[in-house]
Amino acid sequence: MVYLTGAGPGDMELLTIKALRVVREADVIIYDRLANPDILEEAKDGCEFVYVGKADKHHSLPQEQINEVIYQNALKHENVVRLKGGDPLVFGRGGEEGIYLYKRDIKFEFIPGITSAIAVPEYAGIPVTHRGITVSFRVVTGHESSGKDHSQIPWENYKTDDTIIFLMGLHRLNKIANKLIEIGKPKDYPIAVVSRGTTKDEKTVVGTLENIWEKAKELPTPALIVVGKVVNLREQLSWFEQKIKKQS
Ligand code: SAH
Repeated sequence: MVYLTGAGPGDMELLTIKALRVVREADVIIYDRLANPDILEEAKDGCEFVYVGKADKHHSLPQEQINEVIYQNALKHENVVRLKGGDPLVFGRGGEEGIYLYKRDIKFEFIPGITSAIAVPEYAGIPVTHRGITVSFRVVTGHESSGKDHSQIPWENYKTDDTIIFLMGLHRLNKIANKLIEIGKPKDYPIAVVSRGTTKDEKTVVGTLENIWEKAKELPTPALIVVGKVVNLREQLSWFEQKIKKQS
């Protein structure tokens, strides 16, 4: 059995009870960069660990290769845990891994995880919805494969006041902010970048579409971008960063 498991956004305590159980029972854990490594300490003696985060300094292992690593381990072991940051199906490519296993007659289960898309803004004091401010939110990839002529993102739909959360977008923050101005959002529209959310290194930078790039471009990854009037609520709701400041 392969458990395609969400590890949550960083804070170890945001792991689900179910994920913790399969980690403790695992014969092998295949994990990547975003999963909190402290989770691995919960594994039983003799459990094997396979890191598929980065093949070298800059490149992750190609997905096809990761699929094959999972499959080969499933042939050898009874309990295989594929541990992924956040939720396995929110830009996690867990669906591809499931299909690869399905085609090879390997049984699998998904174990949902708390996604960074919601939890990281929440730790930063930014609710993704808030009565009277926004009635919906969108989670969007900020990383579109290069070489494409046309954006797959329906920018024209983003004129509303929906909260927009961009994952994998820090390196394109400037382009994203400019695009939002281009479709008609005010230059002083609120935007925030949250770096290393839910960990003791969490840092949030708040700005406007016009100045956020200058203010936030140096932040370390992983980082996500939140666009919307809910960002202003942070002044009252920033509980976590105040707590870690007191502790340090
Ligand atoms: N499946 C994951 C997302 C994978 S995409 C989930 O559900 O959370 C990877 C992106 O998630 C990163 O580029 C970053 O934008 C975001 N991310 C993940 N963990 C984060 C964290 N602790 N703080 C800020 N952003 C994070």
